[in-house]
Amino acid sequence: MSRLQKILIPFLGLVLAFWFYSARENFKPEMLKGKRVIVTGASTGIGEQMAYHLARMGSHILITARTEARLQKVVERCLVLGAASARYISGTMEDMAFAEHVVKEAQTLLGGLDMLILNHIGTSYFGYFNGDVGHVRKLLEINFLSYVAMTVSALPMLKESEGSIVVVSSMAGKVGFPFTVPYSATKFALDGFFSSLRQEFTIQNINVSITLCILSFIDTENAVRAAAELLLVPPAPREECALEILKGAALRRRELYYRYGPTRLPLLLRDWAAELLDYLVRSRYRLDRLRGS
Ligand code: NDP
Repeated sequence: MSRLQKILIPFLGLVLAFWFYSARENFKPEMLKGKRVIVTGASTGIGEQMAYHLARMGSHILITARTEARLQKVVERCLVLGAASARYISGTMEDMAFAEHVVKEAQTLLGGLDMLILNHIGTSYFGYFNGDVGHVRKLLEINFLSYVAMTVSALPMLKESEGSIVVVSSMAGKVGFPFTVPYSATKFALDGFFSSLRQEFTIQNINVSITLCILSFIDTENAVRAAAELLLVPPAPREECALEILKGAALRRRELYYRYGPTRLPLLLRDWAAELLDYLVRSRYRLDRLRGS
């Protein structure tokens, strides 16, 4: 093979790859107009912002979290912003019966479901793993098992609508992160469950998309309170993050990376230079500011 061919073939490959990705469908807000959507963990943070974006796009919204007063306010604002309808159900995702009840309410109130956005997380601590097995179990129930329970309950409706499941995860669900051991375990579990389920959907020709969202540090009140002092990286805006999640979901993307640079690029190192990646992750922390260090 001539030297010219050796250069030309990879170059053509790159041009084709660029053409393939740039020719993919673009997002339009109308894609979510009239869609029936459940958003969990929508009383604050990214979930709240997703509810507002969906409202502006004219979706039917059913939101859930524990704090009724906050949910009420989010629903009121959604209606002002233009939601086709907006309702809430309050309760805790520690209780699997509650998780299933939320989905059943979508059947009763909305007559079906187009998108299930699984976003809530239980409270955890930021610091060295303290050996509390009970806490790991509880967090797995809230951050993982309730996602499974809701998915199982929602599947008949989602199969009918050829709808979507959106799973909000984190870089801490792809790479080992220090100081969030129980949380990271729950996020890795989500990747295992939903990536395997996606494979089975493909084999069985089930047209329900699963979008796993890999997020970097986002400026929600709770995340900033827990980690801003210790992290050397600035948080990304939650409004933009929420919109990117919805775009990825509407386009039925397999995985969504936000922000792209701090998530997708480091992950390229994971299989080939894992120790370098571990080092880069550790170097993002101001270890001297860690309580109890
Ligand atoms: P928040 O802490 O702001 O919101 C969490 C939501 O979950 C709230 O609505 C809260 O409401 C609800 N919640 C908490 N405990 C329970 C419970 N037991 N049962 C039901 N609902 C509960 O989270 P963020 O917006 O920061 O994060 C949203 C998602 O994004 C999460 O999946 C998180 O892992 C992911 N992510 C966030 C990052 C960040 O830096 N912010 C980084 C990477 C990923 P209430 O208290 O009223 O129940």
